Amino acid sequence: MNEQGKILVIGGGISGITTALEASEVGRDVILVEKSPTLGGRVSGFHQYFPKLCPPTCGLEINYRRLRANRHVQVYTNSEVLSVSGEAGNFKIKVRKNPTYVNEKCVACDHCTAVCPSDRSNDFNAGMDKTKAIFLPNKMAYPPRYVIDRPACEPGCSKCVAACKYGAIDLDMKTQEIELEVASVVVATGWKPYDASKLTNMGFSSVPNVINNIMMERLASVSGPTKGKILRPSDQKPVESVVFVQCAGSRDENHLPYCSSICCLGSLKHAKYVLEQNPEAKVHIFYIDIRTPGKYEDFVVKVQAEPNVNMIKGKVAKIIAGKEGGVLVEAEDILKLSKVHLEVDMVVLATGMEPSLKGQAQVAGIKLDEYGFVPMELQQQGIFSAGVAKWPADVNSSIQDSTGAALKAIQTTMGVN
Ligand SMILES: Cc1cc2nc3c(=O)[nH]c(=O)nc-3n(C[C@H](O)[C@H](O)[C@H](O)COP(=O)(O)OP(=O)(O)OC[C@H]3O[C@@H](n4cnc5c(N)ncnc54)[C@H](O)[C@@H]3O)c2cc1C
Repeated sequence: MNEQGKILVIGGGISGITTALEASEVGRDVILVEKSPTLGGRVSGFHQYFPKLCPPTCGLEINYRRLRANRHVQVYTNSEVLSVSGEAGNFKIKVRKNPTYVNEKCVACDHCTAVCPSDRSNDFNAGMDKTKAIFLPNKMAYPPRYVIDRPACEPGCSKCVAACKYGAIDLDMKTQEIELEVASVVVATGWKPYDASKLTNMGFSSVPNVINNIMMERLASVSGPTKGKILRPSDQKPVESVVFVQCAGSRDENHLPYCSSICCLGSLKHAKYVLEQNPEAKVHIFYIDIRTPGKYEDFVVKVQAEPNVNMIKGKVAKIIAGKEGGVLVEAEDILKLSKVHLEVDMVVLATGMEPSLKGQAQVAGIKLDEYGFVPMELQQQGIFSAGVAKWPADVNSSIQDSTGAALKAIQTTMGVN
């Protein structure tokens, strides 16, 4: 197939992977461009995901197997789309492939990390631990290849080059610019957590043991900084009491005016994580309304029935440091018309989903709405969006949406608008 019949997918999370697979498995050539060094997106950082509460391996592994067996998908990781110009059926694309300093000869043997003298903050674990300057992005990385964070390296150091038996490290690797022609484009760039330090009364990054929901996923995960034990960050004490603060940023005109739609389910899932490790733990969830759409109603009913789960309708007003690593929470209880004061081991802010493209260098040719999402109706013909790039959604809805986007993109390659 010539390049003009190809489909470009921007973003290699579950939505982008699904779009790429669905289109390629009916014979279309697809180019999948992912900004980070690995595919998988946010799902790869979860401990478990609802509705079945299975680990991310069960969804991603099968998709990676499909990708490996597929000759129609070309994957560019550590790469960004700089511009999209032209028209449906004939788009011109500029892609920048950033150097990882490790080539395809890497077998992920890990000999390089043993000699690396430098550390860097581990973004996969939400900054709660460190990796070496040469690192595997995560245990499920696709491709399973190390990457070097060059600014983190000691000046002049090349110890990893000497330690690598396979000639896989190339410290002179350069940025490449690639020009492509494609028929249609699907934007699947997903989301990032809202910056909780903007919620000045919530104590994030000023009060010890106030974390966000992404940190909670990583604390519960066996590949996380505590090997899956939910411990208080300040002193590694097992957590005996937790407050969850719903709508931390969402449904607030000063922050994210929309509902992020998934944070209630996220905190209910996190309550289960806490109780699985310590059935005696006390869990308090402060909410405005619990929003668990459609099929997820069962989940809230089950968690609510747990004797140690206390659901309180009311907003949290203030979070400050308590004694010996404890956290003091002041809130209202609307139904009891009273104020609540609690001292707990840890507070989890259920921060909302903000579109990834908000605040990123804009991709010329892709239009964003006022929040940074990529609605279909703003795009020119032949450009589509899928998953959370479009609007907050769970994995199942993102997958369905991405299958639809793949069909639209295929129709464009056939000249159907
Ligand atoms: C705390 C929390 C828990 C959750 N738990 C669940 C759960 O248990 N079950 C469930 O169904 N849903 C859950 N969700 C929702 C779930 O995270 C989303 O449905 C899912 O991540 C959507 O996938 P996506 O591919 O659209 O976006 P993402 O997972 O964000 O993937 C987007 C990809 O695009 C890449 N990208 C970004 N910008 C660019 C660019 N400019 N160029 C190239 N690539 C780019 C990113 O690096 C990323 O790999 C949860 C959400 C939160 C906040």
